[in-house]
Amino acid sequence: MTPEEFRTAGRDLVDWIADYWERIEDFPVRSQVEPGWVTSQLPTHAPEAGEGFDAVLQDLTDVVLPGVTHWQHPGFHAYFNSGGSAPSVLGELAAAGLGVQGMLWITSPAATEVETVVLDWLARLLGLPEAFLSTSTGGGVIQDSASSATLVAILAARERATQGRGNADGLPSLNRPLTVYTSAHAHSSVEKGVRAAGLGSASIRFVPVDEAFAMRPEALREMVEADVAAGAIPTIVVANVGTTSSTAIDPVAAIADVCEEFDVWLHVDAALAGSAAVLPELRWILEGSDRADSFVMNPHKWLLVNMDCSAFWVRDRMALTSALSIDPE
Ligand SMILES: *Cc1c(COP(=O)(O)O)cnc(C)c1O
Repeated sequence: MTPEEFRTAGRDLVDWIADYWERIEDFPVRSQVEPGWVTSQLPTHAPEAGEGFDAVLQDLTDVVLPGVTHWQHPGFHAYFNSGGSAPSVLGELAAAGLGVQGMLWITSPAATEVETVVLDWLARLLGLPEAFLSTSTGGGVIQDSASSATLVAILAARERATQGRGNADGLPSLNRPLTVYTSAHAHSSVEKGVRAAGLGSASIRFVPVDEAFAMRPEALREMVEADVAAGAIPTIVVANVGTTSSTAIDPVAAIADVCEEFDVWLHVDAALAGSAAVLPELRWILEGSDRADSFVMNPHKWLLVNMDCSAFWVRDRMALTSALSIDPE
């Protein structure tokens, strides 16, 4: 495709998307196809010769659209919102057009600096404390998902709790279990992160909740004390500001008291509801989160950004880089 052909095809695709948005309410919210229907419409082998872009658009209409569950439909009320918007689609297009791999500052200074500045803006918009800003000890970084952010928080906490031995010698060398605490209503990504970090599901303590489905801090304290007495190393508490099932808010300040007393990393999972703190009258939901070591919220849920954009901040960026950075030749 030449740049000239791209101009034409690109305009056609933008038109196709705008047409879709204009008539999205005409579709059933949930895809009506039987399992395997989309597969049955596709050839088993990739075509030898390319097709014109018109044929590709026709396939989008005839094969893909029937197999789409319409997350942006006004009648979609499952899971959580898909925060897409026209400006965010254009942003994605611009990023794809530049084809940048932003792994280091030098691989594209604008990628690093725009990300850093915008995450500072977003931190201020949410009323996060000064320590989370790049101009202080911390900073923000975009992750593909809250699941990844929580995994990264667990890895940073693991390295802090083991003074770096987890990475250097492996966890078995410690001869002491590392324990993790979260509410019984936490998102499944917490357990998945614990598994991926090599701590094992048996290291998780699901702390009981009260009648509002919020973590009971006195139960957390008892569990931490019992683990310390048994020789374990309490490593991280994942507190929720808005659980996925009921938007329950854990008492983060009381949880932070326990974390500070026992030197445990506090990660706040505000993936779902964190966006609400943009509103001054709802900022109270982040009470206590200013004492967290790390914090995640998902612009791709309520902030009009399409999947995938998860915003992750840490209070001490050295804790993150020392846990995760390797400088290859
Ligand atoms: C949606 C959600 C997650 C996972 O978010 P992804 O970005 O899909 O990984 C984690 N925690 C809570 C509370 C959520 O609502």
